[in-house]
Amino acid sequence: MSAHLDDEHEMIRDSLREFLEAEIEPDLPEADRKPMTKDEAIEYQQMLGDLGIGPGDVEGDGFADPLTYAITSEEISRIWPSLNVTLNMSFPTLFAAYAGEETQEALGDKLDEGACIGCMAVTEPDGGSDTAHPGTTAEKDGDEYVINGEKTWVSNAPIADMALVVAEDLETEQRDFFIVDTVTNDIETRELEKLGWKGSPTGQIFFDDVRVPEDNKLMNAVMNMVAAGDSDIAENEMFQTADPLNAMFSYMRTGMAAMSVGIMQAAYEAALEYAKDREVFGGPIGGHQLVQEKLYDIRAGLETGRLLTYEAARKVAEGDPEARMYSSLAKGWVCEKSVEVADDAIQVYGGNGLSTEYPLERYYRDARTMTIPDGTTEIQQLVVGKELTGVSAYK
Ligand SMILES: Cc1cc2nc3c(=O)[nH]c(=O)nc-3n(C[C@H](O)[C@H](O)[C@H](O)COP(=O)(O)OP(=O)(O)OC[C@H]3O[C@@H](n4cnc5c(N)ncnc54)[C@H](O)[C@@H]3O)c2cc1C
Repeated sequence: MSAHLDDEHEMIRDSLREFLEAEIEPDLPEADRKPMTKDEAIEYQQMLGDLGIGPGDVEGDGFADPLTYAITSEEISRIWPSLNVTLNMSFPTLFAAYAGEETQEALGDKLDEGACIGCMAVTEPDGGSDTAHPGTTAEKDGDEYVINGEKTWVSNAPIADMALVVAEDLETEQRDFFIVDTVTNDIETRELEKLGWKGSPTGQIFFDDVRVPEDNKLMNAVMNMVAAGDSDIAENEMFQTADPLNAMFSYMRTGMAAMSVGIMQAAYEAALEYAKDREVFGGPIGGHQLVQEKLYDIRAGLETGRLLTYEAARKVAEGDPEARMYSSLAKGWVCEKSVEVADDAIQVYGGNGLSTEYPLERYYRDARTMTIPDGTTEIQQLVVGKELTGVSAYK
């Protein structure tokens, strides 16, 4: 039992693992060969929602505590990282229930059924890591905002009912978030093919004079939420901190680190089993010293990565001033480590490690994908550098 987990967390992990092995694992590897369809995403979201996980949990309180979020991200990613991405990146639907009336009406039934798919649209073709200066604009026109621009590399974009879009509010000249539904607006998307996370749909989104009610500005929606007083989201500790937006990013980054822990766990289990079974030179390869060294490195990466991730989750949960630093340290370090671990596990498998008949190449492709979204490793290094020195290396 991990020092970080109490009985309740252990129970969540064990029951989720049992469910995933019975209900989701049999779908693999076929389910990961191409992006899941919208119907498939809804089915998975509702299935996990019934277990109290993710945006499909309509009775739930929105954001799970950071350690539960880490554990669920880890366990789902041990089986299928793409599913975790689709589920977690659907979280903006939690805010949609407090958007303008028109949006609420458009999404109401889907939200009630846990069938609404969301996405978070930050990255731009000309902006990339520089998310502080969006080219996408939101112009106030009466009681609406008119949004123009383009986003890219957005998880769930091709199947989303709504997007939380980062744009510059031309009135305030500040970066802000806007809820845009794709039901009342005609929004074009284009699917992007990629190396890993194959089962997770990713795409570009184009906003051409898209109109949304003024209540769709996130801050207005959050105020509606507080005024309604019926949402546990508003009471969530994360939103009680001095900088709720940064707290949310730290939460998400910790979840990304946890995904890499899940991939490492899967790679570790596979490599260990194979090392014991595969016989070359008259005995199991696990008896050769250089293979044992690989198992040592894999296990060390897994254990260290898990401890760092859980520690980051603990700090996020407590609103610790070091939460931002720890979550970036975890996202940067653990995601890079998972690439090394998956690579070592492939080596233990020899030629079979490269075969699509075995899961190792998928673990590698999924691990390799982890170092870019949600802030590249380099950006995490700069965040940590800034937190440590007080000096920002970027604007
Ligand atoms: C599979 C996948 C899913 C994604 N999902 C989403 C999503 O749901 N929503 C969303 O908004 N975005 C998403 N993204 C986008 C992701 O967040 C960006 O790809 C990422 O932030 C990097 O931006 P970029 O690709 O434009 O790279 P760039 O910013 O062009 O960077 C290119 C390289 O330069 C380095 N670099 C850039 N600036 C600096 C600097 N100041 N110092 C040192 N190095 C630097 C980067 O680290 C990187 O190595 C996703 C991306 C992928 C691949």
